[in-house]
Amino acid sequence: MKSTVDYVLGETLPEPGTAIEVANGVRWIRMPLPFALNHVNLYLIDDDEGWVLIDTGIATDQTKALWERVLETQLDGKPISQIVVTHFHPDHMGCAGWMLDRTPAQFWMTRSEWLSARAIRLDDSDELLDGIAAFYRRTGLGDDTVFDLRAMGNTYRRQVSPIPLIYQRIAADTCLEIGGRRWMAVIGAGHSPEHACLYCPEAGLMIGGDFLLPRISPNISVWWNEPDGNPLNDYLRFLDRLDVIADETLILPSHDRPFRGVKPRAVDLSTHHDQRCDLALDICRKPATAAEVMTAMFKRTLDTHQTRFAIGEALAHLNFMLDQGRLARHLSSDGAWRFVAA
Ligand SMILES: [Zn+2]
Repeated sequence: MKSTVDYVLGETLPEPGTAIEVANGVRWIRMPLPFALNHVNLYLIDDDEGWVLIDTGIATDQTKALWERVLETQLDGKPISQIVVTHFHPDHMGCAGWMLDRTPAQFWMTRSEWLSARAIRLDDSDELLDGIAAFYRRTGLGDDTVFDLRAMGNTYRRQVSPIPLIYQRIAADTCLEIGGRRWMAVIGAGHSPEHACLYCPEAGLMIGGDFLLPRISPNISVWWNEPDGNPLNDYLRFLDRLDVIADETLILPSHDRPFRGVKPRAVDLSTHHDQRCDLALDICRKPATAAEVMTAMFKRTLDTHQTRFAIGEALAHLNFMLDQGRLARHLSSDGAWRFVAA
């Protein structure tokens, strides 16, 4: 999709295992990810006696080794005193438990994100795998793909260290004082159930997490546990609420690079979803499954990991239009939902 943002540091990226200053009192770290999206950004905010860490990276040996180096060499001898995790996804949550074994930090998260992390990390049942397979059969994916998706099992368990038993809750009215400046929680849903951004008007900074990305669109997916959910509506409502963010705010996103231009970016993201809805509606002039809509939306070969996100994304647009009354849905005799323009 197109991007109209201003990358304030140009092409500059932190080297693995090092932190660079991205704003006064804020450092930026990049950790590797074993996916097509090959990195995640983490941030450290100076809190005088210690650092507030935002997100932790996926729990791989590679990330942990890089963390050892950061902890030893990049923190000016100060401890990590607070850990804030924006949402439960493994690239953000992964090393939180591991880190808490090494630092006496307090751990902050919203309630739904913490509960999601705890619940998914613990679920190792066949029931879960059967539920996943039943959901993907409804989407019209072929038997082989459904088999592969079931066989992938609970990938979350393998990508996160044990989820902390105790957390400090970030709620809609939470304001964290860090280094003498106030950071307000800006909570949204869509990419995940209760994602926390942090906005510091005084510093002109916002932690964007996965909700404000400069180039790619955050994945907005329907998942097996809430098949009739409407996450796209949640996400568009979040974008609408960004009016209160000052134009010149520097956004610190979880992927790609820090940028300015939050409002044009919100418009681009919302236009992108409008276009995807138009495309899906066009396919549904004849009854179509989510899998058929996915094929039209993503015109490339997708591996099993990518299919999981792509089918969820196709369904997010279909459920959005179903709620608006632009589509109708029925269950066909082959066990798949078919959507048709109303
Ligand atoms: Zn995410």
